[in-house]
Amino acid sequence: MEIIRTVKNLRKELTPLREFGKTISLVPTMGYFHEGHLSLMDIARKSSDIVVVSLFVNPIQFSPNEDLERYPHDFERDEQLAEERGVDIIFYPDVKEMYPEPFYTYVSTEELSRVLCGASRPIHFRGVTTIVAKLFNIVQPDIAVFGQKDAQQAIIIKQMVKDLNFPIKIIIAPIIREKDGLAMSSRNKYLSTEERKQAPTICKALTRAHEEVRLGNKNAKEIEDLIREIISRACLAQIEYVEIVDDSTLDKVEQIKPGTIVTVAVFFGKTRLIDNVILLKE
Ligand code: AMP
Repeated sequence: MEIIRTVKNLRKELTPLREFGKTISLVPTMGYFHEGHLSLMDIARKSSDIVVVSLFVNPIQFSPNEDLERYPHDFERDEQLAEERGVDIIFYPDVKEMYPEPFYTYVSTEELSRVLCGASRPIHFRGVTTIVAKLFNIVQPDIAVFGQKDAQQAIIIKQMVKDLNFPIKIIIAPIIREKDGLAMSSRNKYLSTEERKQAPTICKALTRAHEEVRLGNKNAKEIEDLIREIISRACLAQIEYVEIVDDSTLDKVEQIKPGTIVTVAVFFGKTRLIDNVILLKE
């Protein structure tokens, strides 16, 4: 496995491979790997000849009041885990390499980036789409793998690829969870012992709601109320939103149909957790 820190060297490495007809997949990450990240690498490994993982904590997707400075990192551990999963290249640029000054150009998916998480994180998705578009141009992968854990991000990336004609197949990988149901996230590390104990309530509420929908209740308002009620039983939980939305427009729905997504953001102390479930999926 190679660690490459500059755009120039990455291009130098990938150009001949592409010319030899090798297929390339890209897994964009911010590091501090857990099984969720590693599952994306496994999918990439199975789907292409060359697996590139990017590791970059992207400053432009964090607001000044967010956790950029304390975002967890452990490059040596990440390097070892990626190597074990058969990754070929880790692209590990620094901020100057990705945003040499001056930098003026942003990619924005407009309305899609203003709802749900975008309502409280107004610059977040513009930062995500900008860095992902840059990575797509730098790596020129055939395939890129993202996680369903970040449902809104997945929908936004698919829309960006369509709107801007990127010739890239997007694979969305299922959510990997801890044994007690908590969706894996680098930010789970911030939870106190008591918060960590209560956090699985989010997954329990989503599972219970999914059951209710399977049993025939298609009324989005009732399902939303049920989820709020279950999550509120955890005394440390502060709900930011519970929304039941269309899986491509992110518009709120009244009647649940196959593919409708329930998506939630909940604070435990200062830690903001997100989770979601796709309803009535075959
Ligand atoms: P991050 O490093 O948090 O930016 O995540 C990098 C990629 O891993 C994104 O596409 C995430 O959606 C995905 N990911 C994060 N957590 C999980 C998880 N628990 N299961 C599956 N994919 C995940």
